[in-house]
Amino acid sequence: MAKSMVVLGSTGSIGTQALEVANKHKIAVRAVSARKNTALLAAQAREFGCASACVSEESSFSELKTLLFGSGITPLCGEDGLCEIAAREDCDTVLNAIVGMAGLKPTLAAVAAGKDLALANKETLVAGGELVMNVIREKGVALYPVDSEHSAIFQCLQGNDRKELNRVFLTASGGPFRGKKKEDLAHVTREQALNHPNWSMGAKITIDSATLMNKGLELVEAVRLFDLAPEQIEIVVHRESVIHSAVEYKDFSVIAQLGVPDMKIPIQYALLYPHRCECPTKQLSLADYGTLHFERPDFETFDCLRACILAVKAGGSLPAAVNGANEEAVAAFLAGRMDFLTIGKAVMAVAEQFSPQPLTSPDVIYAADAAARAFVRESFIPKSFIRE
Ligand code: NAD
Ligand code: MG
Repeated sequence: MAKSMVVLGSTGSIGTQALEVANKHKIAVRAVSARKNTALLAAQAREFGCASACVSEESSFSELKTLLFGSGITPLCGEDGLCEIAAREDCDTVLNAIVGMAGLKPTLAAVAAGKDLALANKETLVAGGELVMNVIREKGVALYPVDSEHSAIFQCLQGNDRKELNRVFLTASGGPFRGKKKEDLAHVTREQALNHPNWSMGAKITIDSATLMNKGLELVEAVRLFDLAPEQIEIVVHRESVIHSAVEYKDFSVIAQLGVPDMKIPIQYALLYPHRCECPTKQLSLADYGTLHFERPDFETFDCLRACILAVKAGGSLPAAVNGANEEAVAAFLAGRMDFLTIGKAVMAVAEQFSPQPLTSPDVIYAADAAARAFVRESFIPKSFIRE
């Protein structure tokens, strides 16, 4: 159970909810971080009596210094600042809620310093692969999943023999375009893709949910976290997001974890494990839902899902490349420089054309990420393309 923690990405959707949980359960917060939202970051650092606050963008550093002047809170900046707070001596747990590959270095810094990890930043596990899992095992730190599906799987594994696990049902809401075909998605706008039916989340993961890349990333995340073969994971579209995932044992008994779609439940479980106490959220009323629906995912329409399966089967640096391609493509889509369907095309092209390298060092991960981003920029983002 976390007593004192550092929250990386504290100004985001997960980060702010993690602070709510910390507040309710009196977990001390030693440091917070953001990319550039200095006003909220400084307010959080003051409210939680943090020792330090870090902003990633160097151009926002002077603003942060001004905002923290006289508070006794140390302002830090950049990747070095992030790694410094991730390794602070006065915390036992690092909650990483940064979005994207930017979360990898601070995760490694936290593990190297022997911190337990509450990990929302799935890109760390996807890109970092076996390399990250190996350092976590070698250091003997605990890794608590924050992602709701992985928290569900983790919860369903409690008290059972891991060797008796058969397979996992990874549930997916299907996103805003469930049931649509490629021809329906040719003119999707940013606003339509950002309109998730069940979850309120940051922009990048919301787009990933619309392309089903999020489910592909989560499949890779589940393979890494629970040491599963990709074939042991069955993705099930479940539009209500009430069953957060389930596991099947050798006797074909299936155990699922249910709850309202609210990230505070998995965040709290990651921080209070193995304890359970009241969570600041609504209770589930199954009768109000009445019916729960399940269907197979549409692999034809959602290229990203196929790309992730290809990548995890190939292993090595390919998941890092596919993740990098997606980050580049989603940023371009959000900036109005790429069509919705091109995200899937770009990610699939990288999955098919890049060859996996063995993950001998973090440099291999960064090289695969950079090469995939460059490939997407050159091949899929016409310089003149501006969406109306
Ligand atoms: P968000 O965009 O709301 O917040 C991201 C946070 O990271 C912010 O504090 C931002 O300032 C910071 N950040 C962004 N880019 C950064 C960079 N380059 N360097 C350092 N800091 C940076 O995102 P979110 O929705 O909270 O998601 C965070 C992570 O959690 C993602 O990996 C996402 O996939 C995962 N996740 C989110 C949800 C959810 O409900 N939001 C659910 C499951 C998993
Ligand atoms: Mg999830």
